[in-house]
Amino acid sequence: MKPIVAIVGRPNVGKSTLFNKLVGDRIAIVDDQPGVTRDRLYRETDWLGTEFVIVDTGGLEPRNKDFMMTKIKQQAEVAINEADVILFVVDGKAGVTALDEEVAYILRKKNKPVILCVNKVDNFQRQSDDVYDFWSLGFEFLLPISAEHKLNLGDMLDTIVQNI
Ligand code: GDP
Ligand code: MG
Repeated sequence: MKPIVAIVGRPNVGKSTLFNKLVGDRIAIVDDQPGVTRDRLYRETDWLGTEFVIVDTGGLEPRNKDFMMTKIKQQAEVAINEADVILFVVDGKAGVTALDEEVAYILRKKNKPVILCVNKVDNFQRQSDDVYDFWSLGFEFLLPISAEHKLNLGDMLDTIVQNI
């Protein structure tokens, strides 16, 4: 079995954008459990010869707020159990939110490597001080990235491979 790297985080932070940039147009791995692929999308990928399976979570985000909260927390629980490395994506433009803190709480419960990816940092020259606020979530690895503009994804992949 190849190592599993799961992408988690609240809606709209850029999880699927990051996933798509990492996998290009690779074919989805079809999960044999009915219903699972709707919520979780699996793709094989590699970085400098290290192969792993990357998982996008979230899928269609429910509109109902309480239900959405429950789903995000469930996804975080599944990720912390099944994944070898977790990419916890947050929105660097929005700053730390209460929901980020709830997800962080779940992810800190087990001793799995979590890479906090502060996304939407589109301009590294004018990097906002807000990025530093995310250290308060309590993770060892923090990387500003821009999924959309593919900034710092090499450093992020190096960090993944070092922790697989
Ligand atoms: P998800 O709900 O976490 O899967 O988020 P999506 O990948 O669907 O992205 C939500 C929105 O954020 C979309 O409008 C993306 O275009 C935008 N987005 C994603 N990555 C970036 C980024 O690096 N910079 C900026 N400015 N926007 C981004
Ligand atoms: Mg998504």
